[in-house]
Amino acid sequence: MMSKSIQDNWERIQERVVHACDLTGRKQNDVRVVVVSKKQLPELVAEAAECGIRCFGENKVQEAAAKIPLCPDDLEWHLVGHLQSNKTRAAVELFDMIHSIDSTRLLEKVNSMSAEVGRTIPVLLQVNVSGEISKSGLAPEEVPAVLDASAHCMNVDLVGLMTIPPFTPDPADAGPVFARLREWRDVWRDEYGISLEELSMGMSYDFEIAIQEGATRIRVGTALFGERR
Ligand SMILES: *Cc1c(COP(=O)(O)O)cnc(C)c1O
Repeated sequence: MMSKSIQDNWERIQERVVHACDLTGRKQNDVRVVVVSKKQLPELVAEAAECGIRCFGENKVQEAAAKIPLCPDDLEWHLVGHLQSNKTRAAVELFDMIHSIDSTRLLEKVNSMSAEVGRTIPVLLQVNVSGEISKSGLAPEEVPAVLDASAHCMNVDLVGLMTIPPFTPDPADAGPVFARLREWRDVWRDEYGISLEELSMGMSYDFEIAIQEGATRIRVGTALFGERR
């Protein structure tokens, strides 16, 4: 049975996206929603899929490996959480995009595993813009070395950057963090000639702010499914 709340929540999310796009003259189609289904059952993913949602995100390889086979098979899956090196092979088999590359070693491992399974996988570099200790991700000054290494990685397609801002009670406070990710992107794009067009930033409570600062992918969980158990 279709739960009314998922449908309603999805409509509400789309309205919020449209409103944020209008504020800055962006097109709705330039902002794609990755629905984060971590800790949610396959039945709920199927319900979300019935609303027309096609792109889902998970933060753990093991959970995704158990869940994805039980979900409709025409969906796109993104890894949005930290990737442990020993799960890299499973990750490149399961996912259509990895948002969380946080070292040269991991990039090279994803590259070699992708080559082994005969594919090229789109990836994003996770950048810890604010320097917050508890957050994973590359410090901005570590990114150039990874960009250099990416030139030799033929089985990864480095398409952009991702960040998670520190939590603040007022979502507007994340604005400067999102803006800095975009500014770094512009610098690296010009220096390395890599377009890095994807900016994965913004979650349920701050995605309007992220969209105003240029997000192309927002990662939304609780705004669709409600609080996770
Ligand atoms: C859980 C998670 C999200 C979604 O967060 P909500 O607040 O539920 O929208 C987004 N990004 C990452 C990396 C996550 O782990």
